[in-house]
Order: sequence, then structure tokens, then C-alpha cells
Amino acid sequence: MDNFSQAATVVSVTCPCCGLLCDDLTVQRDSAGQLTVKENGCARAVAFFARAVAASEPRIAGKPATLQEAITKAARILGDAKQPLIAGLGTDVDGMRAVMNLAETNRTTLDHMNSNALFRNMLVLQNSGWFNTTLTEVRNRVDLLLVVGTDVVSVNPRFFEREIWNKETLYNQDTAKREIVYLGGRGLDTSTGIAPDGRKPDVIECDMDRLPEVVGALRAFVLGKPLIANEIAGVPAATLQNLAQRLLAAKYSIVTWAAGALALPHAELTVQHLAALVIALNKTTRSAGLPLGGSDGDTSANQVSAWISGYPVRNSYMRNIPDYDPWLYSAERQLQNGEADALLWISSFSPERVPPATDAPTVVFGEAHMKFDKEPDVFIPVATPGVDCKGTMFRIDNVVSLPLQKLRDSKLPALAEVLRAIEQQLGQEQGAAIC
Ligand code: SF4
Repeated sequence: MDNFSQAATVVSVTCPCCGLLCDDLTVQRDSAGQLTVKENGCARAVAFFARAVAASEPRIAGKPATLQEAITKAARILGDAKQPLIAGLGTDVDGMRAVMNLAETNRTTLDHMNSNALFRNMLVLQNSGWFNTTLTEVRNRVDLLLVVGTDVVSVNPRFFEREIWNKETLYNQDTAKREIVYLGGRGLDTSTGIAPDGRKPDVIECDMDRLPEVVGALRAFVLGKPLIANEIAGVPAATLQNLAQRLLAAKYSIVTWAAGALALPHAELTVQHLAALVIALNKTTRSAGLPLGGSDGDTSANQVSAWISGYPVRNSYMRNIPDYDPWLYSAERQLQNGEADALLWISSFSPERVPPATDAPTVVFGEAHMKFDKEPDVFIPVATPGVDCKGTMFRIDNVVSLPLQKLRDSKLPALAEVLRAIEQQLGQEQGAAIC
């Protein structure tokens, strides 16, 4: 059994900071519970694990309260609401399971803080499907990587280190020969796409708002369609034709994007072009899509929501059955229109992801360092999975879930414990009302 009051070096630590869930970090703990990344952490991971142990005292309207008092007050706010909303959803699998249970008990609507980006992908999966792959498959097989509209490293800092320039593969591929092409955007950091032998990636720039045209033209060239144009959004047609030929000639190309970077109107149509391009390539060779990004448990929240309710987040139990509507159940829209009359905001990983401004009574269960412009009605600091408590998270490729270790004893309650206590309290109050 771990003795958390003793200094220790913990190996094979999984980092929950982005969708890659790198599981090779070495973290040192001192006797006060302060953590320091010693090996394999990117700058984001180093800053994440270095956060000091924070005070675990809940607050009601900014004043210190016991955990039980805060739970009672939060249960009252949620129980009294006619249209309660649970948003943020920055948690892991265990936390999200408890969220789903509470949502069903209290007829609540759910939305994740990253949903605007998530739905650029989700709408495509729903509408036409796609042919995507896993990080493991990429690591072992890719020969041509097409990166669309992102530098990748700003969302998944160790992507190239772990998945592209890895030294070993299952089939003895010479990974240094892999080809990288960046398409779209301007002035991206393409330095991590430089091969170990110094070979530079190809960079085809265009303004982000013209990316849909460029991707559409590339798809047309892959399909062998004629295009009466010398250039598309400033990119010579011949350049895109050449890229189409390289994709058709590759043995296993990967087309990757990060939905968060596609801040375009109807970006799902661009993602749909990419998905269709991959499907077209598979008529004669092998290709797969790889949506990247992922943070604050968005992939885990969606997985849990899907297996329990049959729908992704932006669903609701208001009608006492799971009900899904990506427009109607947007937290942003519900709060702006004054439809939600109580908000429970969850952010267990990121202190900076605070609730949106609202006049609705607000309860926050969040990372202990959170600071607010407007103090919520109830704040309960909760454990961060992978630091203060154990947990489980899904990787960005959706098929692999990884365990998260508890690294220190911070006295913070796990989100699931707090939610179960609220559910119990609501159940008692509903039972008393019936009697
Ligand atoms: S790349 Fe992502 S998962 Fe890996 S160490 Fe950095 S932040 Fe953590």
C-alpha cells in the first residue's frame, strides 16, 4: 500500500492533460505531496503536476463551510430547479458515471465545455460515418501523414515524439522515412514535423477561412475529378494535384486534424470532406483519419454518455428518458436564453475553465485552485483524477482507456463521492415529499 506521506519516485504515470494520455512519465513526490515531473513530460504536463496541494475547504457564497453543508446546499439548488443543467463535465469515467446517475435522478441536461469543437466531429460521425484509426496503428504503420489546419503540438505536444518519430515499430518500418505534409493555416509551428535526419516537412499554407475550399479541391483530385481552376485559395492546383497523387501512392496515409483548431462556420463540412477523402483513398490503398486534440475529459464524457444513454453529451433527462439535441441542449445557448435555472459546473482538471457568466444559481465542483470573478453559490474543491485520486480516462482515439494513479493524499473528495451524496440527499427529499 502506498504511503503518501513519504517521498517517492513514481514511474509509468499517465498524464491526463491531453488526449494522448502519455503513460510513460516519471514523477517525484516529496513528503508534503508536492509533485515534480522528472522524465517524459511536456511543458504542459510539468506545469500540471507542479500545482501545489490546495486547501480543501468548501465554500457557500464565498464563506467556509463543511462538506456536508455544501452538499446540502448544492442538493437544494439542484432539487429546486425546474430546468437544471450540468455543464463543464471536466472529469474522468468514474466522475461521468456519477454525473449520468445524478442527471437521471434530477432530470438534468448535460453538456461538455468542449462541445463546440466536439460537434465538428460528432455531426460527421452521425451523418455519414468515418474511417478512423488508433494511435497504435499510426505508430506502427503510417508512411504519409497529412496534417490539416493545425500544428498538432499546440493540442497534443508529444504527438510527433511518441507516434511519428518513434524508433521501433511492430513491422520494422524505418520511421525516419515518414513523410509529413501540413495543409492549411499560416505560420504554424512545423518544427516537430522535421524528420530525425533533418528532412523538412512540406507546408502548404492557406488562410484558415479558405481551408474548406482547399480540402474540397483535394478531395476532388483524389477522386480524379477535373477542376477548372489554376489555384484554390492561393494554393496552385498543381500542388494539390501532386498531394493527391502522393496520397494515392502511399501505402498507409493518415489524415489528421484537431476539431478545436477548425473555428470556421460549419466546420463539420470540412471534416466531412476529410472523412470522404479517406474513404475514397481506401478504394485503391490504405488510409485512415485521426481526429486529434482532447482535453478536460471530453472523450471520456462522450464515451460514458454514449454507453449509458445511447447519445453523446448535449443530452437531457428532462423528459425522464435520454433525449439528444446538439442545438437545444447547448449549455451556452441555454444559459444565454435564461432557460436553465440552475447550473452545476464541473472542472476537475483545469482551474482556468470557470463557469460562463449567468444569473442562474451556480454550484461548482472543481479543481481546488479555481478563482472566480463572481463567487458561485456553492464551491466544492474536488480531487483531480491522476493526481489526488485514481481514475480512468479514454484516449483521443476512443478505443483505449487507461488507469490514472493517485499520486498524493490531498484530502480532496472524488467528484463521484460528492455527486453520490447529492443524489442520495435528493432521493431522501423526494421520498419525504411523497410521504
Ligand atoms: S503530450 Fe499530452 S498527455 Fe502527453 S505529457 Fe504532454 S500534455 Fe500530457
